Amino acid sequence: MIPAPFAYHRPADIGEALSILTEHGDDARVVAGGHSLIPMMKLRMAMIDHLIDLKDIPGLAGISTDDGRVTIGAMTTQHDLIVHPGLATAAPLLSEAALQIADPQVRYMGTLGGNVANGDPGNDMPGVMQCLDAQFTLVGPTGERTVPARGFYEAAYMTARQDDEILTAVSFAVPKGGFAYEKQKRKIGDYATAACAAQIAMQGGTCTAASIAMTNLSDTPVWSQAAGAALVGTPCAPADLDAAVAAALADIDPTEDNRGPIAFKMHVAKIIIRRAIERAIARA
Ligand code: FAD
Repeated sequence: MIPAPFAYHRPADIGEALSILTEHGDDARVVAGGHSLIPMMKLRMAMIDHLIDLKDIPGLAGISTDDGRVTIGAMTTQHDLIVHPGLATAAPLLSEAALQIADPQVRYMGTLGGNVANGDPGNDMPGVMQCLDAQFTLVGPTGERTVPARGFYEAAYMTARQDDEILTAVSFAVPKGGFAYEKQKRKIGDYATAACAAQIAMQGGTCTAASIAMTNLSDTPVWSQAAGAALVGTPCAPADLDAAVAAALADIDPTEDNRGPIAFKMHVAKIIIRRAIERAIARA
């Protein structure tokens, strides 16, 4: 459980980090909390010659909830998402989901940016970000660009981020209505067998907006446009929920692994998706 030798870089600003990244190309990786990357290096599943620690770079951590928009720096820890008072009011879906990641030790170190940039289908924040229709800000040698979370994930560990880009922040409009993050796992601290994020707005007994996204039920997070559409304009009666759950299930493609066979995962997903929708409606 000892990683292969590597050079450790601790740049003082983003320009220096980018130039080290550009110089070493595929032999370099940035490290944030290290709670996905370092275990992979210890297992020798990742062999990285140059690690670029982002901790000393100013301006990469912090949460703002001004002007109807939430912006969170990439180096903000998962623990910070739970304890930030403004975020608990503006987007409580985030703290509910963050509380279900691993355990306090991991959450003190693990960052939001690392969780969404990693590309692991088991990470919880990518689905949450898709549910909230977040935008990711990436900075590279040629400047800054934004990529929607719903277009960021291409396959397991494959994202729209280029090797020479650093994720600096995520942002999204303050969501309306009720929320829920439901996660089924084998034991406390585990990754999801199936999880679902829901954000649903109701007005006068009719659903006016609905966003449903799922974790670890395909090789990427899955935002189900059809599941949301099945609820909008309805009173969210049991038959409407049946339609939404069926639409969400049609959008996922789980594989068999040590969390169970496909039929079991579809069964768990059906229960988890319905619970998330029902709880979000109850809070709307
Ligand atoms: P790192 O490990 O430092 O980096 C991860 C990857 O992202 C690396 O490839 C790195 O190069 C890249 N990266 C990091 N930051 C940036 C950036 N700003 N720009 C570009 N690339 C970047 N996660 C869950 O979601 N749910 C769980 O239930 C869960 N359980 C866990 C249980 C255990 C025991 C452990 C050790 C981890 C668990 N995790 C879980 C993972 C944890 O949340 C990690 O912290 C997270 O996946 C990665 O965040 P990090 O800051 O540690 O990133």
